[in-house]
Amino acid sequence: MSDDDKGGPKGPDPHELRKTLEEMFGKMGGSFSFSNMAPEPFSDEHEEGANDEVNTDVEEILKFHLLPRDIKAYLDRFVIRQDEAKKALAIAVCDHYNHVKTLKAKVDESQGIELQKQNVMVVGPTGVGKTYLVKHIAELIGVPFVKADATKFSETGYVGGDVDDLVRELVQKANGDVSLAEYGIIYIDEIDKLASSGGLIGRDVSGRGVQTTLLKLMEETDVPLRNPQDMRGQIMAMMDFQKGKKSKDTVNTKHILFIVSGAFSGLEKIVRERSSDSQIGFSVDQKERVMDTELFKHVTTQDYIDFGFEAEFIGRIPVRVVCEHLEARDLEAILKYSEGSLLRQYEREFEAYGIDLRFKEDGISRIAEMAAGEKTGARGLMTVGEKILRDFKYELPGTSVTELVIDANLIDHREECLEEYRKLGLELVVEKARQDIDAFMREFREKHGVVVKLNDEAVALLVKLAGEQARSVFQVARQLFRDYQFGLKLIQKNIGKNEFILTAAAVEDPDRYLSDMVVSSYKEAE
Ligand code: ADP
Repeated sequence: MSDDDKGGPKGPDPHELRKTLEEMFGKMGGSFSFSNMAPEPFSDEHEEGANDEVNTDVEEILKFHLLPRDIKAYLDRFVIRQDEAKKALAIAVCDHYNHVKTLKAKVDESQGIELQKQNVMVVGPTGVGKTYLVKHIAELIGVPFVKADATKFSETGYVGGDVDDLVRELVQKANGDVSLAEYGIIYIDEIDKLASSGGLIGRDVSGRGVQTTLLKLMEETDVPLRNPQDMRGQIMAMMDFQKGKKSKDTVNTKHILFIVSGAFSGLEKIVRERSSDSQIGFSVDQKERVMDTELFKHVTTQDYIDFGFEAEFIGRIPVRVVCEHLEARDLEAILKYSEGSLLRQYEREFEAYGIDLRFKEDGISRIAEMAAGEKTGARGLMTVGEKILRDFKYELPGTSVTELVIDANLIDHREECLEEYRKLGLELVVEKARQDIDAFMREFREKHGVVVKLNDEAVALLVKLAGEQARSVFQVARQLFRDYQFGLKLIQKNIGKNEFILTAAAVEDPDRYLSDMVVSSYKEAE
């Protein structure tokens, strides 16, 4: 039933409304855009799972019952190492959702309760599992999760994105459920790029501005559900209003958990310099050490301030933890033991082509060694894996190869091994084709009492057709020559011939080949 039928308020024609508004704002010279109506999502679409939508509801979140050790145990299934980060995140997340639960349960008494949010800072190089940890936590709890790079923001939102868009994106991930979005997790990477002073990296004024905007978000603010710059959003809001629809039009950020991260290269230098003239002594061989759990213990709030953060900003992120650099043996463990191991993914990809892909121990170690050389953490595994498998993934599907074994030898002599597999594929194709042709000839002879033979070119052409049609050579031959018995028997009658050779021409145009044979048999008979 439409609004008209109900006698309710009649919604405006969207096209008309849009035209009118466009004219109106055009005259005002406003900065509204119609072409690029929706704000660009911040999340990196290629990031695994970054685009997942969540289907939990708030009720479930408010039943939160997990213990820190439950969360850690869950993370252990996917993330190798990073034990400190797992613990710190698990505790922060439990504290956060327990607070939220308490506040909601005791609405009346909650006025006096102070909530110091457990926003988290994860320090660590690229590809060591920072995003992976946060993504899996969000998944486990069932809250929406948004990832963004701090470098994409600008203070005003004109150059880069508007920080508020992150909150709106949480609503999208929550399938439009504003209440659920209000319990989501916002994860901001490359936060170290907002550092302003010290001349280390420095975005100066703008970086400081973004810190202030983020700070507001981390404390508590109401973000309009529709971006004031997004014309379509504004129009839809107006239409909803005219239709008498009343829904929540702001998102409160009080219960949104913020997790920020960055490589913070240079932070270890600040700690070392400070510590060299204090009581924390580092031996000479520790001078060049990278940030690890041990060194991280000595990082103070002042070090972040020296690095270039506003004291208020860093003060809002009380939980700080390091994710350590991954070595070759860690990468090997990721391949072998993580539930999200790339090896499973590769196996599935080859399985789709009917190829059984297997990795030998020495192959796995070799991949890990090469990936460590990439210096991009576990991301290196993907780069290396892709490089090793690409040609095989291109060449082997569609051949008769049903098994591919990746060992160190194959990795070290890729070209030669590929050539062997190519040959094997061809041999298998020829062998299978030969069997198929034999079966076809046998069937023809038994059914019709006529002997047909195919020459080499005919077989080659049949193999090609079979590949194109994804059918067996036997099936294609049977289909092409399904009516041949009639013509061949006629020829048999005319000239008493018992054996027929079929050439490539017969495969190309079976009807014509047969009728030519029949015609010449009549001539011969005369
Ligand atoms: P970053 O630390 O830059 O956020 P990610 O968490 O996005 O890195 O890691 C990229 C990918 O590498 C992940 O999706 C995951 O497959 C893999 N990975 C990274 N670190 C680990 C780890 N410690 N254990 C298991 N897999 C990992």
